[in-house]
Amino acid sequence: MSEKILQVEGVTKRFGGLVAVDNVTFDVNPSEIFGIIGPNGAGKSTTLALISGFLSGDAGKVFFDGRDVTGFKPHQIAQAGIGRQFQVSRLFMELSCIENVFSGLHMGYKTSILQRFLHVPAANKETQELRRKAEDILEFMGLSHLRDEPAKNLPHGYQRILSMCIALATDPKLLMLDEPITGMNETEIEGVLELFKQILDRGVTIMIIEHNMDVMMSLCDRMIVLDFGKKIAEGTPKVIQSNDQVIEAYLGTE
Ligand code: ADP
Ligand code: MG
Repeated sequence: MSEKILQVEGVTKRFGGLVAVDNVTFDVNPSEIFGIIGPNGAGKSTTLALISGFLSGDAGKVFFDGRDVTGFKPHQIAQAGIGRQFQVSRLFMELSCIENVFSGLHMGYKTSILQRFLHVPAANKETQELRRKAEDILEFMGLSHLRDEPAKNLPHGYQRILSMCIALATDPKLLMLDEPITGMNETEIEGVLELFKQILDRGVTIMIIEHNMDVMMSLCDRMIVLDFGKKIAEGTPKVIQSNDQVIEAYLGTE
């Protein structure tokens, strides 16, 4: 079991009469880029929300790193080692880049708020360490030159990268991204693809939802295809590209 980093077994989510995610099963290997594709409304984001604890499922189980994390709350999922990139709208727009990343690190604190308030030496030391870590992440993701810039002043592509920095702040083993390159231009996309490689090199597994099919086909090791909440295909990009059911699902929505 532990050779898979993530195992999703029969997860199901209903919204009233609609089955948004219908008995979906898949697993993710360590150090791969795993994709979820499918037409609009197929249940991709809902699947991600079920794994990250933002929605509770009606059925099914989620195992992460050999551990049953079904029903965990979002902060417990984060502590278990799953990082999730939030939409740009979750950034603190008035705060600088470094403060935004620092805010994502609060979970890493071992000292208490009171100790920090009282400036107990251990707490001061810890704050310094976390600040350094925030600097490291900005540097790693190529945003050091913007460290003191308020998030609102960043171009959209950089705001997306900043939200990835925040997701990385908790040292996740698995990073989940929902349409990370949407709204980016070619140059920005190339930059982000390069960052994905570096993130993988650090031993982080990536799970990605994305509409840009060319990017997904060249980026992912394996993927699943969802359609009306159901998994209709699974495999390498090559297998997926020649799957009749997948072609039909996409043509049906054109
Ligand atoms: P995708 O990300 O693949 O585009 P979603 O997972 O966002 O699809 O949505 C799957 C289906 O569930 C859609 O029909 C959507 O309208 C519906 N849905 C998503 N979230 C909710 C919600 N909170 N309440 C009701 N219906 C929802
Ligand atoms: Mg979505």
